[in-house]
Amino acid sequence: MAEEKCKNPVCSCPPQPDGKYCSASCEGTGDTIELDCDCGHDECAGNF
Ligand SMILES: [Zn+2]
Ligand SMILES: [Zn+2]
Repeated sequence: MAEEKCKNPVCSCPPQPDGKYCSASCEGTGDTIELDCDCGHDECAGNF
């Protein structure tokens, strides 16, 4: 199976089929460690 979670550590969303991240927001974090996730998904555990 492929990755089942967004590569952004704080994000709990499933990634998009064509990428390792669930959203451009997560992909934009790059090597920066964010304390909260801005992907905007209601189900995201890292979105405060
Ligand atoms: Zn997220
Ligand atoms: Zn994400």
